[in-house]
Amino acid sequence: MKLSHRVMQITPSATLAVKRAADELKRRGINVIDLGPGEPDFPTPEHIKRAAEEALAQNFTKYTAETGIWELRDAIAQKYNREYGTRYTAENVLVTSGAKQALYNISVALFEPGDEVLIPVPYWVSYPEQVKLVGACPIFVPMDRDFQISADLLQEHITARTKAIILNSPNNPAGTVLERQHLQEIVQLAQRHKLFVIYDECYEKFIYEGEHVSVVEFDSEHVIAVNSASKTYAMTGWRLGWSAAPKELTQAMAAIQSHLTSHPTSISQKAALAAITGDQSCVEAMLSEYRRRREVVLNELEKIKGIDFAIPHGAFYVFPTVSSFFNGDAKNSVDLARYLLEKAHVAVVPGAAFGADSYVRISYATSLEQLREGLKRFREGLAALRSLEVRA
Ligand code: PMP
Repeated sequence: MKLSHRVMQITPSATLAVKRAADELKRRGINVIDLGPGEPDFPTPEHIKRAAEEALAQNFTKYTAETGIWELRDAIAQKYNREYGTRYTAENVLVTSGAKQALYNISVALFEPGDEVLIPVPYWVSYPEQVKLVGACPIFVPMDRDFQISADLLQEHITARTKAIILNSPNNPAGTVLERQHLQEIVQLAQRHKLFVIYDECYEKFIYEGEHVSVVEFDSEHVIAVNSASKTYAMTGWRLGWSAAPKELTQAMAAIQSHLTSHPTSISQKAALAAITGDQSCVEAMLSEYRRRREVVLNELEKIKGIDFAIPHGAFYVFPTVSSFFNGDAKNSVDLARYLLEKAHVAVVPGAAFGADSYVRISYATSLEQLREGLKRFREGLAALRSLEVRA
């Protein structure tokens, strides 16, 4: 079959590949501990589910505006104004089928074939693939050892073709949080070079130390915020995200969306409205549970010799280096993750999926009991790899 040049350039999501392999072992009756998942293990809070039930009962089951319903756009604009001092109105907000679609709308609306888009490494898996799908070129910029990215690091990679920078904080896969000063200087760099800063802040509410800074605090013309109900309200399956951007760009993205998905599911929009305007104590409760788990994970990882990791101040991931364990049985992060899955029955995501082959991603969006057992298997699996090497 002759597939398009564009689709031949992309690789399917590696995070989903790990899930498939783990599911296959589970099907064979093997008890696999899954430290792979990129989604909250909590159920969607009750009051949000009730809003969806009410939407159904009221037959709110027809097409909505392609932009999403006005009340939800307005509630999102108000959220930004309240939390980050912006002056957005509903017209700055586009409701999308997950942050993923918001990001893709942006690529289609902004990038010409050959345009360059700066992506700090490690990155969330879909950024480069989406950029490639519209014919633009991802330009990878390594972050520093603490997974910070500065204007200086980015500046070296700017050319006449550079169109945008995609930033993500808190970071998936590393859980690290970008610092205010770096963000402010990056926005100034973007202003000087007339670039867009696309800012994925899906994990903004999961911060354990320090603060989440949004680039929308510094500028309104060059920044685009991308966000989602998926993580904050444990709503991954509802497919509900949004962008906050200049009005002209929002209109362009609405036109694109009108030809792709029309709009996110009507029922999900009502649920998200209840989530954003309702009681936020459910978010607090999830945050404090993640905090407890994070302590356990960091304590357990401290005990493992041969790995190193940046302290994650946000999200629910930690990204240790495992390259000191690479050997004939595990030459890279993909092999090592496969070895851990098959021999130690613990699933982690290879760093190669995020452009950083020396690492693996561990998610703590799972119960304390599973985490303790999973980390034990991780430690023992790595130790077994090391002893294989010694024997060889
Ligand atoms: N950005 C990041 C950094 C993510 O981790 C994810 C989900 N894994 C997304 C975007 C996509 O989220 P959504 O479910 O809203 O499409």
